[in-house]
Amino acid sequence: VSNHDHHQLMHITHVTAEMAPIAKVGGLGDVVTGLARASLSCGHTVDIMLPFYECIPRHQITDLALITTFNSYHDGVWIPTEAYKGFVSSIPVIFIQPSNHFFKGKHVYGGSYNELDAYVFFSRACLEWMQVTGTQPDIIHVHEWQTSVLPLLYWDIEQQLSKSGLNGSLYATIDKVESSTAMQFTVSPTYLKETMCSGWLSSTLVSNRHKYFGILNGIDTAIWNPALDVFLPAKFHAENLEGKRLCKYFVQRGLGLASSDSALDMQTKVPLVVCITRLVAQKGLHLIIHAMKRVEQLGGKMIILGKAPDGNIQREFEGLANLHNEGPSIRILLMYSEELSHMLYAAADMVFVPSMYEPCGLAQMIGMRYGAVPVVRKTGGLADTVFDMDDPQNQEKANGFVFEGIDETSLDGALYCAFSYFKDNPNKWNNIVKKIMEIDNSWNNTAGKYIELYSSIKANVN
Ligand code: ADP
Repeated sequence: VSNHDHHQLMHITHVTAEMAPIAKVGGLGDVVTGLARASLSCGHTVDIMLPFYECIPRHQITDLALITTFNSYHDGVWIPTEAYKGFVSSIPVIFIQPSNHFFKGKHVYGGSYNELDAYVFFSRACLEWMQVTGTQPDIIHVHEWQTSVLPLLYWDIEQQLSKSGLNGSLYATIDKVESSTAMQFTVSPTYLKETMCSGWLSSTLVSNRHKYFGILNGIDTAIWNPALDVFLPAKFHAENLEGKRLCKYFVQRGLGLASSDSALDMQTKVPLVVCITRLVAQKGLHLIIHAMKRVEQLGGKMIILGKAPDGNIQREFEGLANLHNEGPSIRILLMYSEELSHMLYAAADMVFVPSMYEPCGLAQMIGMRYGAVPVVRKTGGLADTVFDMDDPQNQEKANGFVFEGIDETSLDGALYCAFSYFKDNPNKWNNIVKKIMEIDNSWNNTAGKYIELYSSIKANVN
């Protein structure tokens, strides 16, 4: 990112419902932490505003202190609210804690409060806090639907201020809203094209093309580094894969997947496929279920680590877990576990990502960094980062196995190719593993594009 330091230094505030590792459910948590860390390291002032969920492990926050008490509006009343400040893996975080029941419960999502209400409250409370404390970031980066109301509230609050004579209404013109609100959706380049070509939002997106950008996410290499990862029983890097073999052995033993073959034999003959995902329709559930059967038929092992927010899906997978978990080749772990996810990426020969659509996708990038060869559906960010071994046009980039259809036959083809490669060419396979571990999907590569975008937005407003 250092080549972007000709830009002016900015104050960037991320407003978000997730942050890795203390409040992470999916990729959003990783993205916020990784992008914040990369921007900080280029010299920008960065902070993250996060609801103070009851489930956040306080011991992971350093120098936690109450900094402000203020009121924020919700549904006809002003709610006494506290703002705390602390550091999470060296990144400054402002925690917003209302005195009502919002954000209470054992998990980030799915508490007994109304989520829409709670996040509208949070979005507004962040703005109130900025006002009370006189904090004026250059950029407010809002993430996902939870905070999407913030830009509208921002201009509304600004307008009210103008009416009261506090602030020049000159500043709140429609032009300014148009040019500076954070309608700068960012997704992977392929996902951007896909969403403009079809789907119910396509016409809106096409007419706002000038504000719609395709920037790939990166992975936070401070969190995802197999050479230093504290969660791994053995560390490894591209030049020495012995630790990876140990991780595979350790994980398979722990889950009762080790076969009667000698340990070393098993490492080279039986591929281990992992799939780590939120269990929601977007992620290609029917293909995940089909893959279990197929992997078993092909003589491999498969581990699924996933959590289903939907009760019916949860029950379906519980049924499958009961069916398979005592068997010799499949394990279905229905939970969220950061620690297990690290171990599984490290243990895996292949990482499976069969999404129906994918704005970016981190699982394939993390998998590659940990030496797991990706088997993915060609969509969105997966199409931007994984290139098929047999694609003659992309031999240089070839780094995985790609299928296009959403049917089971397409998937079967890709799995068959991957398994043949693994079994027939151990040396070639090792070379792919080394190659993918050295691909740079870190934020070093892409944070600069966000910084440029921030600068151009800032220039528009000034
Ligand atoms: P999405 O943001 O749609 O969930 P991504 O692929 O962008 O998908 O990011 C998923 C992130 O969440 C990855 O870091 C992945 O390892 C993690 N993850 C998903 N499910 C689990 C789980 N059950 N346990 C631990 N980590 C998970």
